[in-house]
Amino acid sequence: MLEYYSEAIVLNKEALNDTDGLIYFYTEQFGKVIAKAKGLRRILSKSNPHLEPLSFVKIRLINNKNGYFQLIDALSDKENLKKIKGNQESLIKHLRIINFIDDMTFEFQPDLLLWQVIKEIIKRDLDEFQAYQLILKVSGFNPEFSQCAVCSNKNTFYFNKVDNEFLCLKCSLPAFKTAKNADLIKIRSSQSNFERSQKI
Ligand SMILES: [Zn+2]
Repeated sequence: MLEYYSEAIVLNKEALNDTDGLIYFYTEQFGKVIAKAKGLRRILSKSNPHLEPLSFVKIRLINNKNGYFQLIDALSDKENLKKIKGNQESLIKHLRIINFIDDMTFEFQPDLLLWQVIKEIIKRDLDEFQAYQLILKVSGFNPEFSQCAVCSNKNTFYFNKVDNEFLCLKCSLPAFKTAKNADLIKIRSSQSNFERSQKI
């Protein structure tokens, strides 16, 4: 059985059954990896406190027979999370950003540039719009050269993370009347968009 080591950030954590959990990591070496964590939900699980979303961790994984990765252990850099957790607004912002990274990535597609960007965003506490723009840029959707998928307007405000397309303010409105608004990520403030239109 092969063992793997990597630095990673926890993207998400979910219950699998009464005792086990699934941890979504973005790792330096392998890109996104979803690993099963046995006994995670037991009160005394020693790994559990290290596996909150946004934690930077050093992880050890094995590839088990069922094709799953299994987490053997995780050690977190607690200082980083302490800083974010101290501020509720900052925590919520970072959770939204990490959720976007989870939505925009697929398993086993390592991308060192994206890994660097994730570290920058979390450690430097970047503004939310800046964070989305950076993530989109390294994912091949550069907002600077974007145009609305419906009307070609260059003043884009939103990115649809399901259809992977940009939308202007007007063309994003229909989505807000439906459940589809959860697919839209606001990528600029109204102010910066106004400035951008002044330059053109
Ligand atoms: Zn439009």
